[in-house]
Amino acid sequence: MFKKIFYSIFVMCLMLSFSGCDGENTAPSDTDKSKVRVSVSFDAMREFVQAVGKDKVTVSVIIPDGTEPHEFEPKAEDLKNMSKAQVFVYNGLGMEPWAKQAIAAAKNQKLITVEASKGVEPIQNTDADEIKEHGPQDPHSWLSLKNAVIEVNNIKNALVQADPTNKDYYEKNCTEYTTRLNQLYQQYQDKFAKAGRKDFVTGHAAFSYFCRDFGLQQNSVEDVFAAGEPTAAKLAELVEYSRQHQVHIIFVEDMVSPEVSKTLADEVGAKVQTIYTIESQEDHKTYLERMQANLEKIYSSLQ
Ligand SMILES: [Zn+2]
Repeated sequence: MFKKIFYSIFVMCLMLSFSGCDGENTAPSDTDKSKVRVSVSFDAMREFVQAVGKDKVTVSVIIPDGTEPHEFEPKAEDLKNMSKAQVFVYNGLGMEPWAKQAIAAAKNQKLITVEASKGVEPIQNTDADEIKEHGPQDPHSWLSLKNAVIEVNNIKNALVQADPTNKDYYEKNCTEYTTRLNQLYQQYQDKFAKAGRKDFVTGHAAFSYFCRDFGLQQNSVEDVFAAGEPTAAKLAELVEYSRQHQVHIIFVEDMVSPEVSKTLADEVGAKVQTIYTIESQEDHKTYLERMQANLEKIYSSLQ
């Protein structure tokens, strides 16, 4: 009931803001009118759209950089560009539980919407609380190079639909980019297959799809949705695990409480290293650069 009321208010606010004054909106300038206007939910989606669309698209990102994406709830202001966009790209699998309401509220009948993860084989969440709060599936599909190929293709199809004149251009960019994704995957598939150990410890459990690609296992300080601090029991369990398995590197992400990982690392005499979740912009690096860095760091930690 509360939810219903909340959403009605939410939708009303959005409609008002879309139909309201144009004084401070971010309408594209005249020079941008030839480009396809794309609204995306977060950074990895921006990366994929730009890889295929290059200079024929303008992209606006809804979740502001540095925001915890799993707890994000959009305000009307965040969704302004969706009413004028031609394409809206979101990952799906529970990453953006607000997406469907936002699409409805945009009242933009021509909007082409893309659930980028469509066709990806989902990994199910196992924690009852997480399922209740965030849904049954792990959302972090983009951190798998194999899934990225699927997501980039879905995005390419939408860009072709929005701008058929440039079909060949999008097809060519898509082929080039997915070739690079596949090459990177192949390069590390061999390396991981020969690695001595197959497990690593990280802050936020974002790497289940990544692990599935390479037959690895993640142990994490925080859960899939990075909510709150880990319990003392969870921390003790990880200390025990890290000691037993002689873990010498603990990975942390930008937005996950680094003190906790640091405490754990000190406790077991391990080093802390940064890893990228690509949920926000990180170190001004591209998707490929960040994935390459993740692969190399995780691979090195297994030696
Ligand atoms: Zn995450």
